[in-house]
Amino acid sequence: MGKLDGRVVIVTGAARGQGEQEARLFRAEGAAVVVADVLDDQGEALAKEIGAAYVHLDVGEEADWHSAVGAAKSAYGHVDGLVNNAGILRFNSLVDTPLDEFMQVVRVNQAGCFLGIKTVGPAIASAGGGTIVNTASYTGVTGMAGVGTYAATKHAILGLTRVAALELAPQGIRVNAMCPGAIDTAMSNPAQLDPAADAERMSQALDELYRKLVPLGRIGRPEEVARLALFLTCEDSSYITGQPFVIDGGWLAGVSVI
Ligand code: NAD
Repeated sequence: MGKLDGRVVIVTGAARGQGEQEARLFRAEGAAVVVADVLDDQGEALAKEIGAAYVHLDVGEEADWHSAVGAAKSAYGHVDGLVNNAGILRFNSLVDTPLDEFMQVVRVNQAGCFLGIKTVGPAIASAGGGTIVNTASYTGVTGMAGVGTYAATKHAILGLTRVAALELAPQGIRVNAMCPGAIDTAMSNPAQLDPAADAERMSQALDELYRKLVPLGRIGRPEEVARLALFLTCEDSSYITGQPFVIDGGWLAGVSVI
């Protein structure tokens, strides 16, 4: 018995990183999975490998969301789960951020999450209920200089999560958010995208950096976030909705003076 037997879950941004690990774990736990991304070659290859469906979904495009829901229903009959995982990061101080850059991040991170709730929520309701897991961030609950646009959108995701939880509970839909700290994916470790770079060495360097910053002494792994997404999607979290879940190795616990 898998924890997600009979479930049909759309995972956005699933071609790589945390979304990929969520798609793999959800399949292993019995769910039918729709891998959704703008990276079509990588997404299609992953879907083929794990026995999932692939759909091109730019989360900022409302029409793409309707197509994704249609694809999920025609492949598997219904949809009762969504992981809003897709996201982008830009480094800039607030006073140096061009409006176009700000709006680009809002479009993907914030409007993307909103459109997911808006289009997939009714489909989940018509399936009799289910779950939505939104991917916020450590920077959704505290500030971080240099990523103000990103942090603003991740704070907004927590607002969307709480309101969606209130509005969708009567339809049997639970909505929660994950707040990862630093996780070893291409977002934190761009060396993973450069075939000429030594991504493993970069991971070790990141572990060294986070040894000083994070009580648990290392950067997080995408597989660890996938296990939290599983918990929030399966019946183990049946009485939990509207909450942010920090997964950060203790980074937010406080500072040490000794
Ligand atoms: P990643 O860059 O490896 O993955 C992001 C995925 O989102 C990619 O597959 C990308 O193609 C996809 N994507 C980007 N724009 C999209 C769009 N418009 N439509 C659909 N898909 C799109 O990074 P990751 O760490 O796996 O990121 C996953 C989520 O976790 C993001 O929301 C990110 O903000 C969040 N997060 C990451 C970290 C970290 O340190 N890596 C920490 C906290 C939160």
